[in-house]
Amino acid sequence: MIFFRKPIPGVDHPVMEADVVIVGGGPAGMACALRLSQLIDEHNTAHPDAPISKENIYVLEKAREAGAHSLSGALLDPRAMNELLPEWKSEAPIEAEVSRESVYFLTKKSKFKAPITPPPLRDHGNYVISLNRFVKWMGGKVEETGFTVFTGFAGSELLIEDGKVAGVRTDDKGVDKLGEQKANFEPGYDLKSKITILAEGSRGSLTKQLVTRFELDKDRNPQTYGVGVKELWEIPPGRIAEGEVIYTAGYPLTSKEYGGAWIYGGKNNTISLGFVTGLDYQDPRTDPQHVLQAFKQHPFVRRMLEGGKMIRYGAKSLPYGGWLSMPPLAGDGWMIIGDSASFLNSQRLKGIHLAQKSGMLAAETAFEALVANNFSAAQLGHYKEKVDASWIRKELYPVRNFHQGFEGGMLQGMIFAGLGQVTGGGLWDMKAHAGHTRMKHLIDAMGWGSGRDQFLGWAKGDGKLTFDKLTDLYFSGTKHEEDQPSHLVIEDINICNTRCPKEFGNPCQFFCPANVYEMQESAEHPGAKELHLNPSNCVHCKTCDIMDPYQIITWVPPEGGGGPNYDGM
Ligand code: SF4
Repeated sequence: MIFFRKPIPGVDHPVMEADVVIVGGGPAGMACALRLSQLIDEHNTAHPDAPISKENIYVLEKAREAGAHSLSGALLDPRAMNELLPEWKSEAPIEAEVSRESVYFLTKKSKFKAPITPPPLRDHGNYVISLNRFVKWMGGKVEETGFTVFTGFAGSELLIEDGKVAGVRTDDKGVDKLGEQKANFEPGYDLKSKITILAEGSRGSLTKQLVTRFELDKDRNPQTYGVGVKELWEIPPGRIAEGEVIYTAGYPLTSKEYGGAWIYGGKNNTISLGFVTGLDYQDPRTDPQHVLQAFKQHPFVRRMLEGGKMIRYGAKSLPYGGWLSMPPLAGDGWMIIGDSASFLNSQRLKGIHLAQKSGMLAAETAFEALVANNFSAAQLGHYKEKVDASWIRKELYPVRNFHQGFEGGMLQGMIFAGLGQVTGGGLWDMKAHAGHTRMKHLIDAMGWGSGRDQFLGWAKGDGKLTFDKLTDLYFSGTKHEEDQPSHLVIEDINICNTRCPKEFGNPCQFFCPANVYEMQESAEHPGAKELHLNPSNCVHCKTCDIMDPYQIITWVPPEGGGGPNYDGM
């Protein structure tokens, strides 16, 4: 029997009044807090008789310390940082400035270098960073402002009153596996806030509640996603330059799947390498962690890694939908920023600068709302006007059709991408389809024959170059309180045990990069298998919430403080 995390009835939640609550301390949330602080400081200097207090402005972060759940390639386009903190380069942790870039197409044994780097992938002027270290640094800057950063606190529920967002409830602490209070039980707080800013990253759980409650996905493309699986390596010197950037397409994926890899040279002979697999693949046996293991066995990559050692592992989903999947950005008492609101350019494989800028624009809107003492949808709606007038729109609108072009395969995607370049993004808005709807039944996929075995099912791993999932998982530093209800909430587990094995072969066993989902022999029904969950393995990538073909899995935050430790990622 699996007990799922749900509110405990009859518990009183202490109330804290807040002016602004930012849920999520990633690059968007931290940039939002820093910009808001700047504006309040300027105001308070100009109007000492009517100051705005910083006391009741909070950032909530579910990780045990800022940055611990932040994972990306990462390449930083510095545009937003230059506006936010012009001197940032002198103090922020930077791995290297991009020194050269190249793009390859891989077949099983060979590689073909693109004669010129396509303009969207030219990275001179950008920086290789560890997003974990960068966000940690931003978190320190936010703490200096006088705002309170609550780490280890997840937003578990939106408070909605009279159809308006009135704040957020934090998670209850000290609840056991059966959902009963333990001796250390502490109820979550009701942070009653004038403005709630959702900055939860990709597939945010409160954002999902908000989207469902107010039908924010109506009349726009569904959000589409990829999952990036990453390893950090230390390799012998001389294999890759600091700041060297390599992108690849092709092997191990076939023309049926969307995705590609990155390799970035960092400081002290470290490299970040990872593979993004589009979460719109059709074969339910596809395993994104296996995709990365197969990629490393390509002679080009193998040569680079041989003699080195893997030091960190992680995975995270990313939104591909861009401009046409963007939900309404503001309403009564709320705004959405960063990945949660689709601020990512999938053509450039970059989103940190867009997340930061969206946070800054939301901060400007929140500041104006505080001055006007007006938190209505009309007032907070100025945020969308600011986005439309900013370089965010100039960057995202012309690539609004990029990912949809690939729904018909690699070749069609390349043709559409080329057309997009010459027509400013295409002559019409293309529809997208939610990735899980494209998954085929197992029997159909098996009929496609071989040629894809290199990424189907679990990777075995040789322990040196390639790793099985559990070995990789060990390097994610993931830890959760074991005695708590499952934070993977499955609406109808009978579907997992009866229908899914026949139709899709339980793809959760494969798409989860952390071995959370396992089909085990049933004790009650000998010969049958049933789903077993290992929630404490979860690296919070949200792939299951996105890719489950029946859409019956909901990821909700586990007890705050639990999760991966992406040190240096
Ligand atoms: Fe990702 Fe879901 Fe697996 Fe957690 S359980 S690691 S969110 S796929």
